[in-house]
Amino acid sequence: MKPSRAKEQRRFETHAVHSGELRSTSGNGQASDRDYYPISTPIYASTTFSHPNIETTDRVLGGEQEGYSYARYDNPTVVAFENALASLEGDGRAFAFASGMAAMHAALSAAECSGECTVLAADQLYGSTATLMVQVFGASGVETRFFDACDPEDLKEKVEKLKPRAVVVETISNPLLRVADIPRIAEITNAAGSALIVDNTFGTPYVQRPLELGADIVVHSATKYLSGHGDLTAGVVVANPPYDAAVEQMRKLVGGVLGPFEAWLALRGLKTLPLRMQRQCENAREVAAWLDSHPKVGKVNHPSLQDHPDSETAREVLADTGGLVSFELVLEDRKSAFRFLNALELCVKAPSLGDVYTLAIHPATSSHRELSSSRRERLGVKENLIRVSCGIEHPQDIISDLEQALSKL
Ligand SMILES: *Cc1c(COP(=O)(O)O)cnc(C)c1O
Repeated sequence: MKPSRAKEQRRFETHAVHSGELRSTSGNGQASDRDYYPISTPIYASTTFSHPNIETTDRVLGGEQEGYSYARYDNPTVVAFENALASLEGDGRAFAFASGMAAMHAALSAAECSGECTVLAADQLYGSTATLMVQVFGASGVETRFFDACDPEDLKEKVEKLKPRAVVVETISNPLLRVADIPRIAEITNAAGSALIVDNTFGTPYVQRPLELGADIVVHSATKYLSGHGDLTAGVVVANPPYDAAVEQMRKLVGGVLGPFEAWLALRGLKTLPLRMQRQCENAREVAAWLDSHPKVGKVNHPSLQDHPDSETAREVLADTGGLVSFELVLEDRKSAFRFLNALELCVKAPSLGDVYTLAIHPATSSHRELSSSRRERLGVKENLIRVSCGIEHPQDIISDLEQALSKL
């Protein structure tokens, strides 16, 4: 049955709640009137799936009939999560992985980053992603070169000169929250025939849907905003042909699959993504504005602030400005940064982001720990920089906690 127009036109918030759910026992979406079925997709803790006859098993294994055979290929709970996320990204097929890093590995492999080739990586990339490219893909002959994600002209020059197999960039960078101009970057990579891989972990489809802006492959660490409760590790790749089939094959063969329990938690988390993101973006705007006028705080980084270098790009390419804020203390030493973090009573000191709880970290000794101090300095990750991932608490309580911690300096 063709879905009605109203069904096709459902909006983001509605997809977040309903998409993906398996609401029939038959598995083909056609419930008989004697059927009963759960309204919440169960956790299918089964490694293998049997069929009424071996001919069906043959067709399922041969790909001629949709269905499940073995959990490393597909699992109904995992597929429910994947379908829900694909509906939120608005395009492409989604593939879940055991972590964001496993997802990034599959995305790079699907873009045929192997052998003698060049890959361009944004300077601002998540540290482990850059290390994955240099160490793991580097070992097979791939050369990783870097570019400034906020300077499309730098990218254009390097793409024309190096003809990279793939370009890797993040929607919003860590920890200075620079905003990449994805439509312009996609124009450049598409013209050169390079695959554009966008890590949308900091954005989520609530803030940006890169496939609609010309990206080829979207990667998420679902450990962060998508699941949102700090209770699971997961990753997702969303891609269109020809990359989707390559991602699927890579997952089958390398085997970094997501377990059904984690998929169930992630599907549950996804339902409140629009509500959480709306609140987290609002909280981040309020916290950034408050910090910006505090005498013990120097530079504040948030795309909603007028003096942010990408505030205009953010207005053009993002639906909202994200839930993270970073700022420099006026006192420039590491000791003061540590004293501030130790004084926090509500904000949790932990190196992740996107949870319902507000989290605070010291990037120089956590996310950017592995870099030399000179590279940290060049990237603007100073000893007095603090990053806050705003949760969904009342904004005034977050601000009061920051205020009392600043008063200890
Ligand atoms: C956390 C993170 C990753 C890695 O994800 P894991 O789930 O920890 O493997 C990749 N990219 C970004 C931007 C991240 O924040």
